[in-house]
Amino acid sequence: MKDLETTITGLLSDSGNAPDRLLQYLCTIQELYSHIPEAVVELLAEKLHIPPVQIYGLVDFYSFLHREARGDYDILFSDNITDRMLGNQALIDSLCNKLGVKRGAPRPDNRVTVDVTSCTGICDQGPAMLVNGRAVSRLDDERIQAIADLVEAGTSLENWPESFFVVEDNIQRRDILLSDQITHGSAIQALLNNGSNAVLDALNRSGLRGRGGAGYNTAAKWRICRDTHADEHYVVCNADEGEPGTFKDRVLLNSYADYVFEGMTLCAGVLGAKKGYLYLRGEYRYLQNTLEEALQKRRDADLLGRNILGQDGFDFDIETHLGAGAYICGEESALIESLEGKRGIPRIRPPFPATNGFRNQPTIVNNVETFVAAAKIAVLGADWFRSVGTDISTGTKLLSISGDCSRPGIYEYPFGISIKQILEECGASDTQAVQVAGAAGTTIPPQEFDRNIAFEDACTGGGSFMVFNQQRNLLDMVQNFTHFFCHESCGFCTPCRVGGSLMKDLIEKVITGHATRYDLNEMRNIGLVMKQASHCGLGATAPNHVLDTLNKFPDIYSKRLANTGYEPAFDLDAALEVSRQLTGRDDDGAHIRDES
Ligand code: SF4
Repeated sequence: MKDLETTITGLLSDSGNAPDRLLQYLCTIQELYSHIPEAVVELLAEKLHIPPVQIYGLVDFYSFLHREARGDYDILFSDNITDRMLGNQALIDSLCNKLGVKRGAPRPDNRVTVDVTSCTGICDQGPAMLVNGRAVSRLDDERIQAIADLVEAGTSLENWPESFFVVEDNIQRRDILLSDQITHGSAIQALLNNGSNAVLDALNRSGLRGRGGAGYNTAAKWRICRDTHADEHYVVCNADEGEPGTFKDRVLLNSYADYVFEGMTLCAGVLGAKKGYLYLRGEYRYLQNTLEEALQKRRDADLLGRNILGQDGFDFDIETHLGAGAYICGEESALIESLEGKRGIPRIRPPFPATNGFRNQPTIVNNVETFVAAAKIAVLGADWFRSVGTDISTGTKLLSISGDCSRPGIYEYPFGISIKQILEECGASDTQAVQVAGAAGTTIPPQEFDRNIAFEDACTGGGSFMVFNQQRNLLDMVQNFTHFFCHESCGFCTPCRVGGSLMKDLIEKVITGHATRYDLNEMRNIGLVMKQASHCGLGATAPNHVLDTLNKFPDIYSKRLANTGYEPAFDLDAALEVSRQLTGRDDDGAHIRDES
């Protein structure tokens, strides 16, 4: 207990006992003790002057925080549909058998826990897993056997083969954003030379729109934020890339972090902000050290800190903030709540973060890719950016391509590229469907492969592009996504919380052959209610894949339908079997018979 108290006191005093760092404290404690002990909750509550229930609220909200201890090796298999297509289920069973552990529960000796988590952003090199936060890619039988042996031998992760932890950038196609270079500090210098209005004009003429999904005009957002009078302004980089099938930020943060920070500093200079945060998804914790090193190098080069590039009063620094496994925190207002050390419940909007964001101050929240583009536009100009793309969708988009293709990876394409051409270039053939923009996106059938990737056509959101060939059962995708949304709903509003759960049950009913036309209509109705009445984008987009597949792939449902007008999902007679066994009865009166 004394050790615990010393640890907590040290943790708090290092950061000035800040309640809005609560999530960061809990992440550190989870890492140290493999769970959040009750005694820690009491101590934190006392020292931060907050009720314990507030801390338990956080622990229960974030998937990577636990009240009960996990194993010394906490293994989380990525469970996106693309991991499943690559055979992750058999590998999970195999590892569980080898280690004698049940999924989700620590082994009695507390050596290991084997569990699943949502997409870990390594779909191009899956199946993948996280071991104590470190990513292991390209799992196969041989690697699973080796991992089982290492765990049994108690080998520390530092002594596991380095090759296990290699996650390649895997860039298959570069265009202007990834090819054309700018020197460190040149965007900041352009701002100092030309002023913030010139930067905003360049961004406006470039037509840059946010790359995270919503596609809001970047210059307009920065201008609104800058022109909102306040004590402080903040810059936040949304690196909570949680959309299943998306992994472009992994690559940008790993190899282009300087451009990300350059864009954030440029934004800070325009706004007059002194503080920035990079909100890093918990699944990318293994990138945090690289990012911290890049930040330190920039401080050493006068590109961060006080009087940046010698400019009096241009003070700005960036802190990394770790998420803890909550997809909803990708929504900007939920992200801000999380940044303030709270549960990631989306705020009521308006007001929008550009005027009332972090600590209720004007805040710019932009995607990783957007900051990279902004930095380059400030140096290379609006025309450089407009030289590719369409009139409405200027520039390029990074696509994270995975699934049934021979060359998965990162592809940078000018907006306006057709889906057909992308499929040819990534080595896809016999394609049944493409899911663009992740689980929340659109399901595209072959008759729509001439559509283009652009805001005005098939918008890719964060850039996920998952390919399914004719051998795949699309209901597996639908089932995976409905489970995902059901798990990730924050529970705040009824249409999403209840609708998502009903949708999951109805999909199970279809898969088990008990659904009727009535159930398909129910799915449509529930989907429409979710779209219209949900509080935030998660609930509004969660039924997209169900509605799309009902409309565009009706056969996958109709061939599973039961032949009756209505069939209950729950088999009451089967459920009574336990009672029959207990009472020893098996006569007619102990059964529910179908009298129809
Ligand atoms: Fe939460 Fe879902 Fe409602 Fe969004 S739509 S606030 S995620 S319950």
